[in-house]
Amino acid sequence: MLTVSEAIKAILTEVRRLPAVRIELSSALGRVLAEDVIADLDSPPFDKSLMDGFAVRSSDLAGGTATLRVVAEIMAGQVADKSVGRNEAIRIMTGAPIPEGADSVVPVEETRLLGGPQSEVVIEGAARPGRSILKRGESTRRGQRVLAAGRQIRPQEIGALAELGRAEVQAFRAPRVAVLATGDELVDATCAPGPGQIRNSNEPMLAAQMRQIGADPVSLGIARDETADLREKISRGLTCDVLLLSGGVSAGKLDLVPAVLAELGARQVFHKVQVKPGQPIWFGVWDSIVSRPLVGWIERSEAHGAATRWASHGSTHPTGGRDTGPCYVFGLPGNPVSSMVCCELFVRTAIRRMMGVEPAEPAPIRARLTHEHFSSGSRPTYHPAHLQMTAEGALVKLVKWVGSADLAATVEANCMVLFPEGNRSYAAGTEMDVFLW
Ligand code: AMP
Ligand code: MG
Repeated sequence: MLTVSEAIKAILTEVRRLPAVRIELSSALGRVLAEDVIADLDSPPFDKSLMDGFAVRSSDLAGGTATLRVVAEIMAGQVADKSVGRNEAIRIMTGAPIPEGADSVVPVEETRLLGGPQSEVVIEGAARPGRSILKRGESTRRGQRVLAAGRQIRPQEIGALAELGRAEVQAFRAPRVAVLATGDELVDATCAPGPGQIRNSNEPMLAAQMRQIGADPVSLGIARDETADLREKISRGLTCDVLLLSGGVSAGKLDLVPAVLAELGARQVFHKVQVKPGQPIWFGVWDSIVSRPLVGWIERSEAHGAATRWASHGSTHPTGGRDTGPCYVFGLPGNPVSSMVCCELFVRTAIRRMMGVEPAEPAPIRARLTHEHFSSGSRPTYHPAHLQMTAEGALVKLVKWVGSADLAATVEANCMVLFPEGNRSYAAGTEMDVFLW
């Protein structure tokens, strides 16, 4: 059985970055740039005032306070039609271009406007050359590389791109992720469960986890624990970049997912990882070139008119999925906390790699336990916990958790603490690896 780090390494060996596409700036948040972005203009494009005040010649104020004649006013967005001559000033607003002749802006708070027809101003503040002026190109020079390929786009990158006039950018494609719950006991979240039934919480949760990472989830509903239904719904999911299955991968009599995946031509990379919760996780790759059986299914669907539906969506696939490249398949254990933890550790790694986010693997932060904890078990345990940044540093408090079916514990948590395998006590104050949720 693989360790967590071996499983992550196996995922990173298989999973490839998706191709770059052109996207609108409004949908670029969270995506990774696939191009260097070069400034097309100097920023600022002209010497500009950083304050509301008076544009002056510093030489007129060499002797300290002076009274100057106000010859014009310039607002942001205007260009002065006058220059500042000897013993003259121009009233200027923040963002307006510095008029010819001026080399300093004295903030309005350090001046006193005199009434009367002459319109004079007493400059009381110092007029150092360059005061309150941002020089043309001082922030960015035309031709300068402002953002490098590989940069993940945050709000500040959106702002920088807008300033550079980039309504569109080249970014790595976000994966389409099909999410399929499996289990005879499952009913939709909108239903009242009958005897022996439970609501399907994993599918909406996994779809939300995907959306949070920046992937594009496609919900495929619930498949029954029978080969025909699984085959049909899994086949549909395989047309996406990633297929997430929940349930049906352990040792139960109706855990049919691995066999159906094998029948459809998916290549198993691993099944089972030394991790708690989540041990039964399955990971594999379905490649449209080498995995033939699905082609038959797609042809059958085409015969039923699906092809026209896909074509009308500008895609060759029923789910609007990928055009080339394999489908990466994760069979996540059905217990909700197992599903969630495996999604955070393994699926997130794959999605980040596909989107071009590096490093793709989970990176822990360090935090100290608030309370003593005894950890036991033959597998490393990822325990739901609450991390708090305090004046004393990062502190982490375990939440009450009764195991992999206890989804309520995760609601109280914002992270998970890693306890290595083995039986031992961890004193309050022990520094641990913590993974944020
Ligand atoms: P399985 O991995 O299919 O053996 O399921 C393990 C446990 O998780 C069982 O108690 C299932 O009822 C539960 N489970 C499976 N799928 C889901 C789901 N989609 N939502 C909530 N619980 C589930
Ligand atoms: Mg099941």
